[in-house]
Amino acid sequence: PVYSSGEHITMVDDHAAHNYSPLPVVAATADGVWITDVEGNRYLDALAGYSAVNFGHRNTEIIAAVNDQLNRLTLTSRAFHSDRLGPFCRDLAALCGKDMVLPMNTGAEAVESAIKVARKWGTDVKGVPTDQASIVVAAGNFHGRTTTIVSFSDDESARRGFGPFTPGFRIVPFGDADAMAAAIDDTTVAVLIEPIQGEAGVVVPPADYLPKVRELCTAANVLMICDEIQSGLGRTGETLASDHWGVVPDLYTLGKALGGGVLPVSAVVGNNDVLGVLAPGEHGSTFGGNPLAAAVGSTVVSMLGTGYWQDRARVMGAHLHSRLSDMVGSGVTAVRGLGLWAGVDVDPALGSGKEMCKKLAQRGVLVKDTHGSTLRFAPPIVITIDEIDWALDQFAKVLKS
Ligand code: PLP
Repeated sequence: PVYSSGEHITMVDDHAAHNYSPLPVVAATADGVWITDVEGNRYLDALAGYSAVNFGHRNTEIIAAVNDQLNRLTLTSRAFHSDRLGPFCRDLAALCGKDMVLPMNTGAEAVESAIKVARKWGTDVKGVPTDQASIVVAAGNFHGRTTTIVSFSDDESARRGFGPFTPGFRIVPFGDADAMAAAIDDTTVAVLIEPIQGEAGVVVPPADYLPKVRELCTAANVLMICDEIQSGLGRTGETLASDHWGVVPDLYTLGKALGGGVLPVSAVVGNNDVLGVLAPGEHGSTFGGNPLAAAVGSTVVSMLGTGYWQDRARVMGAHLHSRLSDMVGSGVTAVRGLGLWAGVDVDPALGSGKEMCKKLAQRGVLVKDTHGSTLRFAPPIVITIDEIDWALDQFAKVLKS
């Protein structure tokens, strides 16, 4: 049977857990930056799956790699090898200037894995007494939804009712290196930070913040972990957002765009002196590093190797930011971000972020609100100048309506 958008939405309401509040748009097909719904209406996707679709919907190079791999081998588990895992790990590590990869699936899993690695490193290498390891994180963080990860969230709706929580985390204000220094002690094994906080509203820290955190970590023999799951892989105009500050953490977590907009692929990337603490049997994942995921991940790595995507995000991002900053004072109160990634604060008097998103969707542009009246613009990097202009023309009309 062919169902209408309304029927699909009712079905989801009735049979899918209510842990999301989606816009009333039911996608049926997509190509590049455009999504078509079940009635044939077209929408410009200015969210790109929270940066999972950086290279555009159904990117031809990625889809070709998927099709090729589907006809060869899809899943082995890690009980034996596949001919895809080695090249993927080697090339992803090289892209990040490291030598080792721990392949996982979702972003939250990569973060969980980085936490486990940091604790193990702290215990085995740094010599922190068993079960005493502490990790410093930033206020306003978003690293995923598992029980341990929400243990160090300061968003009440992410936590309420989900305790008891995992101990061993300290929260300090984002952007405040002195507070970070004060929170680090002999038990500290890692600092876990988003170089740019995505869910918090695309918050870019002060210019000296990440270099200072790097110095603090080095001085105190603490691992610096940059969660680049949303900020990494081209979005900000560099391969990794940390590159903007010339900062090299000990571990990166990657996800989202690593799966090419096709399937979940995540990883922890670092050097053998840290990732090497894991021995057989101590950590794993049935699907982590599977041949299909590795084929997609390898394609993404090779695409990023040319620099084309980073350059394009920089150029398109400059245009996006210049147009958005012109709107400050006309319904927009502030714009933040870097590259093709913008957090836009809308005057709350004009309505909630959610209402703005609904109105924008009616005009054919899909974005998502975060924290009340902030909208996030993060379109696929394939977007053109004309498409940016068109999307922002619609946004300007919504602000005036
Ligand atoms: N880390 C960051 C910085 C994220 O933005 C997200 C998702 O938005 C995650 C981790 C969690 O990723 P996933 O939803 O794939 O578990």
